Amino acid sequence: MANHHPNEELLMAYSASSLPISQALCVSTHLEFCEQCRSHTQKLNSIGGLLLESLAPKAGSSKLKGQVMALLDEPRQTQAARPCKTAEVASNTFLIPRPLRQFMSDGYDSLAWGWTAPDIYTSEICRDDNGAQVSLLRINPGGDVGKHSHTGDEYTVILSGSFSDEDGIYLAGDFLIRDKHQQHRPVASKDCACICLTSVEAPIQFTGFFRRWLNPLICKSYQPQSL
Ligand SMILES: [Zn+2]
Repeated sequence: MANHHPNEELLMAYSASSLPISQALCVSTHLEFCEQCRSHTQKLNSIGGLLLESLAPKAGSSKLKGQVMALLDEPRQTQAARPCKTAEVASNTFLIPRPLRQFMSDGYDSLAWGWTAPDIYTSEICRDDNGAQVSLLRINPGGDVGKHSHTGDEYTVILSGSFSDEDGIYLAGDFLIRDKHQQHRPVASKDCACICLTSVEAPIQFTGFFRRWLNPLICKSYQPQSL
C-alpha cells in the first residue's frame, strides 16, 4: 500500500483537469497504485459533475446537497498496492502503469537510458508546455543519487524497488514532492534497482562535494532539444 500520497489540493486540481501534463502524469501514475486516492478522485469527479449540474437553477437543491455530503462522508476504501518487481516490469509492458505505456513499446528496457551519474541512469519521456521535464530515473541497487537541491518543484512516483532519504523510505506507488527549499539524498535499497517517474520544473543541483562537477552536465541535458 502506498504511504505517501498527493495532497487534497493536488487531487482536486487533477480532478478539475487543471494540472500541467507533467504533474497530471505523476498523479495518474500514482492512482494506478493507490485505491485510496483513486476512490477519492472518483468522489471529487462526482462532486464536480454535481456542481456543474447545479449551475442550472432547479428545484431539489437540498437533495443535491445531501448527495454531496453523502459522498464526502462515505468511508474511503483501501487495498494493497499492486506488486511491481523490477525484473518483471522490465520485460512485461502490461505491468507498467497504464499512463506510461504510450512512451515505451516493450517495457523499461526499451527506453534509451543515459548515464547521469555513477549508478544513475535517466530517460526523458516528455516535456510539457511549461518546460517541465518528465523522465524515468533508474538507480542501481544501493545506488546513491547524492545530496541535491532543487531549482523548482520535483515530483516523484516510485514505480519499482525502493529508496530512502532523510525523511523516510519510499516504496512502489509512493508519491513525493520536493520543492526548491528542500535538499535530500535518495539511496536505493540494496536488493534491487529502483525505477522512478520524476517531473522537474528545472534541473536539480548537486550540493555534495564529490558530485558538484556533474551540475554543468545536468544543465546541458535539460536544454531544449533542437528540432
Ligand atoms: Zn494515494
